[in-house]
Amino acid sequence: MLPDRDRELTFAPCRACHVWVPGPAWRCPECGAARLEALPAAVADWSSVITDQDWLTIDDEALLKPLFAHFRRQAYDRGLGPIVADRAFFRQTGRVPDRRWYLGSTFGDRPTAADQRAYQTYLLAAAHRAAKPLTWAIEQFQQEFGPHCPWPKPP
Ligand SMILES: [Zn+2]
Repeated sequence: MLPDRDRELTFAPCRACHVWVPGPAWRCPECGAARLEALPAAVADWSSVITDQDWLTIDDEALLKPLFAHFRRQAYDRGLGPIVADRAFFRQTGRVPDRRWYLGSTFGDRPTAADQRAYQTYLLAAAHRAAKPLTWAIEQFQQEFGPHCPWPKPP
């Protein structure tokens, strides 16, 4: 007998085309839609299931948007500039990220004032390293927190 999780995956219908998908496939063989329930919970582990070749064919925002957020967060945690995330995403998928995917990609949809200050510090350092103007840093800031989010007064 299969473990519960595998049995559920075996009999789950595709969320997009509703075709019954056999086995724990991560994508629907009929329409190609991703089956997030068949993927590891952490995006960092998706490469154990999705190959580099697969990524170049993926057109599903349900996969691309979280992958982009993963690269953004990873770049931030490593103190690498936000451009590093765009490049990593391009290398993996062969495409540029959609503008809509930047919002909340590093801090989620409930950022704190401390998150915003930390991101400001991070962007100022990245701008300095890349010889970018302050307007670039503010633009990056508003891509993450929204176009109406005020740039914090530097301490
Ligand atoms: Zn389908």
